[in-house]
Amino acid sequence: MRIEEDIKLDFKDVLIRPKRSTLASRREVDLKRQFVFRWSPQIFDGVPIIAANMDGVGTMAMAQTFAGTGQGMTVAMHKHYSLDRILDLYKKGGGKDVWFSIGVTEADEEKLAAFVGKYGKAPDRLCIDVANGYSEPFVDFVKKMRDRLPETVIMAGNVVTGEMVEQLVLNGADVVKVGIGPGSVCTTRKMTGVGYPQLSAVIECADAAHGLKGLVCSDGGCTVPGDLAKAFGGGADFVMLGGMLAGHDQCEADVVQEADGKKYVTFYGMSSTTAMEKHAGGVAEYRASEGKTVRVPYRGDVAPTIQDILGGLRSACTYVGAVRLKELSKRTTFIRVTQQLNTVFGSG
Ligand code: 5GP
Repeated sequence: MRIEEDIKLDFKDVLIRPKRSTLASRREVDLKRQFVFRWSPQIFDGVPIIAANMDGVGTMAMAQTFAGTGQGMTVAMHKHYSLDRILDLYKKGGGKDVWFSIGVTEADEEKLAAFVGKYGKAPDRLCIDVANGYSEPFVDFVKKMRDRLPETVIMAGNVVTGEMVEQLVLNGADVVKVGIGPGSVCTTRKMTGVGYPQLSAVIECADAAHGLKGLVCSDGGCTVPGDLAKAFGGGADFVMLGGMLAGHDQCEADVVQEADGKKYVTFYGMSSTTAMEKHAGGVAEYRASEGKTVRVPYRGDVAPTIQDILGGLRSACTYVGAVRLKELSKRTTFIRVTQQLNTVFGSG
């Protein structure tokens, strides 16, 4: 047994220090990023915010709304759409706005192969998603996908430490998804005791990835727009959102009106009992870890929420004098605002 004494931080443990700036208005801030990838020859040009591949978030309706903003934000589609619906979306030109999501089961592999066969080419973007990205078979699977789909941008995860980021990048991942335990409907930390404070995970993993021309996506734990600013400030190239996008019209979920007149939407983790029951018959292994089911207030159209998120980010850039999102991490100094004990015991 070993104890690591280094300070590890969550979003709530820090604030970003303001810096002198020449920016007159937040309107001047450019939130788009242009990425070239370690493996895929494609170029990414857009706001690097991704809707999580969860029921109620990674939906086609969300992708359509994201596309309508013209900002280049993307959606990791949840993996329970039928092949026909996915093909239809791609044939109508929607493939550029989404990540095709798979786990590592035979059924996932077959679905992807069937898609490639019927569509005639590979998806532009693939998200290979498992709860625990530390296993050798997972690395082998990523490598197999890289060999099979040389043109595709591959995002793979989740992990939280630099050495595993390096292994995934070297084996074919363009983007490594970072986060174990920070999700709003995740109970991994409580059920297993495993996890890593998200901001430190991002800082350390970004450092490891960037050294190899890889990129990282901070996945989970953002509850307010300022958390996205902290993730980008810490070096995240992409940020993935679940709970912040839940409860909207685009969630393709039932809106329930309670006796008090308030409206709710049910939101659940992809390894919660709700998800297992809904997708019974072979998806129980999608995520090995546990998730919970919550009711979130119905929030109407997602457009104002997106505007809030982008507005908050632009403002954060203005406070530190970053004309482009790209400059945010270079201009970020974090100030610690909590004691370490809160970090350890504070999160779910
Ligand atoms: P949020 O933005 O809601 O804080 O986090 C979203 C992320 O939580 C997802 O992208 C995914 O990585 C993670 N997640 C989703 N469902 C579950 C689950 O049931 N269990 C665990 N451990 N993580 C989940």
